[in-house]
Amino acid sequence: MKTLQLGQFSIDTVVETAGPFAPVDFVLPGVDLAQLEQQSDWLMPRFLNAQRQLMMSFHSYVLRTPRHNILIDTCVGNDKERPLRQGWHRQQSNYLQSLAMLGLKPEDIDFVCCTHLHADHVGWNTQLHEGQWVPTFPKARYVFSDAEYKHWETEHRQALAQGRPAPNHGSFGDSVLPVVDAGLALMVEDGHDFEAGVRLEPAHGHTPGSCVLHARSAGEHAVFTGDIMHTPVQLIDLSWSSRFCHDPSQAQQVRQTLAEQLADTSSWMMAAHFPDPVAGRIVSHAQGLRWSCDHP
Ligand SMILES: [Zn+2]
Repeated sequence: MKTLQLGQFSIDTVVETAGPFAPVDFVLPGVDLAQLEQQSDWLMPRFLNAQRQLMMSFHSYVLRTPRHNILIDTCVGNDKERPLRQGWHRQQSNYLQSLAMLGLKPEDIDFVCCTHLHADHVGWNTQLHEGQWVPTFPKARYVFSDAEYKHWETEHRQALAQGRPAPNHGSFGDSVLPVVDAGLALMVEDGHDFEAGVRLEPAHGHTPGSCVLHARSAGEHAVFTGDIMHTPVQLIDLSWSSRFCHDPSQAQQVRQTLAEQLADTSSWMMAAHFPDPVAGRIVSHAQGLRWSCDHP
């Protein structure tokens, strides 16, 4: 994606990986394939390939304001032990080089904001250094929803105490706790302002403490929606929650509210897994809602 100018702010992506992810009926258990066929003119091949696999991207956003560099969601990370997810296991990507291409070193990041604490949103919070997981962004405050943090902390500790595998592929242990131990975490209540025009708001459902980040500058608006929607395919029927949603009906409510807010407005929606060019808008069409990505 080319840099998106949003008033006095700018938005870029740092792409970790992109391509076919998994069959659409695996990711969205309730999907109606016949409805997808009827709308294949805009869905294929951009969002759905010929094998009916979802085209997805794993990327971070960099939101630059005159005051701060904010990194939003941190993908899977390098060297993480993820034996149950082949593509993620001990992954090696050029993520930090991509960040450098934007003119940013790790110490230039002022805030890391994780919309939720799934393994593909916290990975680059830490990196492996001499056998230890250490914060990748040493000068950043890492902002976590307090509700989200408490939920996964309890799940993590209970799993370890009972000898079960840790949740989220163990990412709480290697990508969240080291940041907390280093004193860099900032747990916030629902409705947290990073600065004027940059506000974290609750959007619980995909996970118990999922949030979205709103950015507003000079009359322009973008919202970083995390995993409220995994793919534009979900615009065809907003009740199609993903198999990764903690509370599918609450996730549906949040998705519907968001779509009603954004449809046919100038607001940009920046999702965590839509394929490039990523930035887009929700628009009405005779057959229902669609995704329009007119930003190159
Ligand atoms: Zn995700």
